[in-house]
Amino acid sequence: MTSANAAYAARDLAHVWHPCTQMKDHEELPPIPIRKAEGAWLEDYAGNRYLDAISSWWVNLFGHANARINAAIRAQLESLEQVILAGFTHEPVIALSEALIALAPTGLTRCFYADNGSSAVEVAVKMSFHYWRNVGESAKRRFITLSNSYHGETLGALAVGNVDLYKEIYQPLLMDVITVPSPDCYERESGESWADCSRRRFADMEAALAQHAHEACAVIVEPLVQAAGGMRMYDPVYLGLLRAACDRHRVHLIADEIAVGFGRTGTMFACEQAGIRPDFMCLSKGLTGGYLPLSAVLTTQEVYAAFYDEYVKLNAFLHSHSFTGNPLACAAANASLGLFREQRTLENNRALAAHMGARARTLEDHAHVAEVRQRGMIVAIEMVREKRTRAPYPWSERRGLAVYRHALTRGVLLRPIGNVVYFMPPYVITPEEIDLMVEVAREGIGRATCA
Ligand SMILES: *Cc1c(COP(=O)(O)O)cnc(C)c1O
Repeated sequence: MTSANAAYAARDLAHVWHPCTQMKDHEELPPIPIRKAEGAWLEDYAGNRYLDAISSWWVNLFGHANARINAAIRAQLESLEQVILAGFTHEPVIALSEALIALAPTGLTRCFYADNGSSAVEVAVKMSFHYWRNVGESAKRRFITLSNSYHGETLGALAVGNVDLYKEIYQPLLMDVITVPSPDCYERESGESWADCSRRRFADMEAALAQHAHEACAVIVEPLVQAAGGMRMYDPVYLGLLRAACDRHRVHLIADEIAVGFGRTGTMFACEQAGIRPDFMCLSKGLTGGYLPLSAVLTTQEVYAAFYDEYVKLNAFLHSHSFTGNPLACAAANASLGLFREQRTLENNRALAAHMGARARTLEDHAHVAEVRQRGMIVAIEMVREKRTRAPYPWSERRGLAVYRHALTRGVLLRPIGNVVYFMPPYVITPEEIDLMVEVAREGIGRATCA
């Protein structure tokens, strides 16, 4: 590391405790100080550039230092940076709510705000539970979730998620949930289609609903892609079956679109591909174009109405965060949604996604690649020890870390999840940059699997 980078890394390591990190790893690989970023590229203090193939943890949509979003935040800054959203309101949050309702599945008419994805999940969970109380069904107090799901790190969100790496140690602190096997199509039988696999897997959910509906508030899912669970994917048919079963059993459906929303799966929201309306839709990450922390929970008039009453009945949803609906973040979100309209982003992404998929699928022949899968602008490559049996590499070998390290030396930020190398780039990425990203992944996988 050059001295400019090294000096920042040393100061950092004296005081900063990094997220999702074993800090001892930094003895070998210090954090990389980023001086600036533009478009799909990050740049450190030594002038090294890194292609941001993971959208800075899945948040960035239209590139770093996007002129339109920068201008919107600057303009907002001149008039109002923050105001309490209880008893007061402001134009950016009104405009954003109107825009989100216009884009969301028909029937979602109310927006509640928080400031990160986990908090949005907490809001949806509390709202669903509280709804059933308010309508006199207090036996309903449990949640149904899928294996391998991820919904965030705060205790409620952790409880309804299912990635052991993040959850297991905290188990004594967590509420008890009902966990149903995931429809993950990586586990489909040979010759079985994705749709058939997801349909077959639905039997477990139907059984869980039949058994637990009387005590269940909601089913929570990540629509189409279990992102933190290794970009595992399933067919939209599952969501259609789930919506119908939730209606039949009188259980809410919470769609956590925090990772998959805003065009990642090819449509604005993943739920659209199944033609369903959830009772709660959680949004964050791409909501502000990846600029500022903000999240929203969209829900129905029916849910809203169950809380609407005389104050003394104490039916109100008395949840808040200090920065709920921050004006700067809302202004960024409005600009980002403006870009979707003006630049016809979803349409243009189809060609990019096709190119990315075609290039990535050239890795299918690799001796240690079991599957290359894609949904819209998300592509994942599953590395395995043995291709024929799909026997995975033991997690402790950290093969993904070897890919990460190689990619950094080649100027690409890849951040595999275990043995899964994936691409979730900002939409400003060019076909040439996609080629670079895939080539570097190929080299990295080659190195990581050679011994
Ligand atoms: C990232 C993520 C969350 C948590 O969001 P944070 O802003 O990191 O708290 C929740 N659900 C899904 C599906 C996510 O990908």
